[in-house]
Parts: sequence; C-alpha cells; structure tokens
Amino acid sequence: MAGKALLERLAEGPVICAEGYLFELERRGYVQAGPYVPEVVLDDPDAVRQLHREFVRCGSDVVEAFTYYGHREKLKVIGKEEILEPLNRQALQIAREVAEESGALLAGDLSNTNVYEPDDRDALRFVRTAFEEQVGWAADAGVDFIVGETFSWLGEAELALEIIKASGKPAVITLAMHQEGLVREGLTMPEACRRLEAAGADVVGLNCSRGPATMLPAIEAIRRSVSCHVAALPVPYRTTPAQPTFQALRDPGCHCIPDDRPFPVALDPFTCNRFELAEFAKAAYAMDVRYLGICCGAGPHHIRALAEALGRRPPASRYSPDMTRHSYYGTDAKITAANRGYAARL
Ligand SMILES: [Zn+2]
Repeated sequence: MAGKALLERLAEGPVICAEGYLFELERRGYVQAGPYVPEVVLDDPDAVRQLHREFVRCGSDVVEAFTYYGHREKLKVIGKEEILEPLNRQALQIAREVAEESGALLAGDLSNTNVYEPDDRDALRFVRTAFEEQVGWAADAGVDFIVGETFSWLGEAELALEIIKASGKPAVITLAMHQEGLVREGLTMPEACRRLEAAGADVVGLNCSRGPATMLPAIEAIRRSVSCHVAALPVPYRTTPAQPTFQALRDPGCHCIPDDRPFPVALDPFTCNRFELAEFAKAAYAMDVRYLGICCGAGPHHIRALAEALGRRPPASRYSPDMTRHSYYGTDAKITAANRGYAARL
C-alpha cells in the first residue's frame, strides 16, 4: 500500500493509527504525568523513534508525529516556550524518518489546547495562533494529513479543522466523549460530527476518554449520522456504563492510590487484553468504521491484535502467540504427555 494517500487507503479498507504516545512513554520513564509535555522529543529522540517503529511493526499504517500537547499553552505551563518550534520540528522529523523507512503515512497532530473559551476573544486568538503555527510546521515537514484530536469543544475542533483545511491537507478530526456524552457546547456527538463533516472534515469520530465498551455504541450512532469516513480510537481500558470514561474509573480493590482516582497512572488493573481490542476492531469495521486505532494506554501488542483482527499480518505477527507449542498447554506432538497431564495443576 506504500505511496497511497489516506483517502485512497480508506476507500480500499481499514487504516490503522496507533496513538497513546504520552502514556506509553510515561510508563517507560520519558514523559512526566501531570504536565504531559513531550519534551522527550528533544531529550531522548531515540525513545520516540523506537516507539514509532514498534507501532508500525505491529501494524500501524500511520506514524503520528508526537506533537500532542506540544503546543504553546503546554510549554507556557512548564516555562519553556523557547523549545516550542524545535520540539515540533524535531517530532515531525523523527516521525518522517520512520514513515519513510516503513512506507507508513505521516500525520501531523493538533490537540485540545485547554485554553479555548467560546466567548473569550483573547483565548480564541491564542488558540488560532497555536494551531496555525503547528499546522505550518507539519506542512513544512510534508505530512500526508493532519489529525486534530481529543477536543471537548466543538468550536475548538472546528477552528483546528479550518486551519488544517487551509493548508490543503486532509483532516482527521476526533472528539473526546466525556461522561455526559456531549461536547461542551451541549450538542450530541452525532450532531457535532455532522457539523464537522459539513465544515469539510475528511474523517470524523472519537478518540481517547472512552474504552471500547462505552465508545462502540457512540461510534455506531455517529456512523449512522455522517457519510464521510469515521474514526474510532478508544483507550484500552474496561470502562462501564456507570464509569464510562477512564477518568471516571474507581478501583475498589486498591486503597493506596493518591486521590483514590486511578487516572492517569494507576489504570493498570483496568487494561483491556489484546482479545478485547481485536473484538472492538472487528465490531467497528463491521459497521464500516475504517479509521481505527487505540489512544492512551495502547501498547504495541494491542495494535498488533487490532491489525490481525482486520486481516493484517504485520511484521510483528511473526511472534504472535502459538500456544500449541507451549511446554504444558501445548498440543504439539513434541510436548510430553506428562507435561500435558500436569497442566491442569499449574
Ligand atoms: Zn488519549
């Protein structure tokens, strides 16, 4: 599929986009939870390059530049606005290297700014500038398309979309669906996505916040409401109707979590297994939801399971499980009867 653009690939079948760089690199010790600024791009570029490669090796069709939260507001919070441009340019350069060596698509990335206020002209001007500068650097790097993600305000998503479209690049716009299931203006997700499609988005949908179980019904409603391609990138956590987002999850089995809130760094016991992500991918694709991925919490093994569920066999499938050759649970002729007999006692 090398060389084909995003929309051509979507016309033919699924496009897989691994996200979740902040969480995975936090787990690995390269990002600080709380501020969540991707300084690792400058401090340890090899760590970012390696994770891009792992995700592609496990089936991601897209290398998304790690510029999530690499915008002006976040750098202001940590007092390092001077690294804004080098950080963005370097993130794009690292992603570009991996996209070129692998034939994957290269995506720029904009995210929620956390300063958007619909009636605050200064805030709106700030957000516009932040998006314009990031889109400009992405366009300079020759990205194939630009993702605008994790928006709670429809207006902020629309602003991102307008600026992406002005660059001439395809736009993938995904909203974060919080507990009430509405954007902050009060509209439903299907209505918000309809408006984004009308404003020219090439792909609309949801990312982050909700796990597969609580995202899938919402995605179905969005799929029925728009005619463009739909994106679904849940977090890999077992969210429930009572606790539909990963921020809302509470862990009755643990009493040593600060603030008693597992989000963001004590979500481990809620992590979906790879089979659950595979089921999600199959169910979403059966609805004709073609832009699929996983957000915060995703590990390469989740991406591989999602890719295989969609009929792919990425390079890392060479090491996909084969329990027939397990020393005790295996069925291969070389496994001794004694070991098989002992398996039930392990
Ligand atoms: Zn996320």
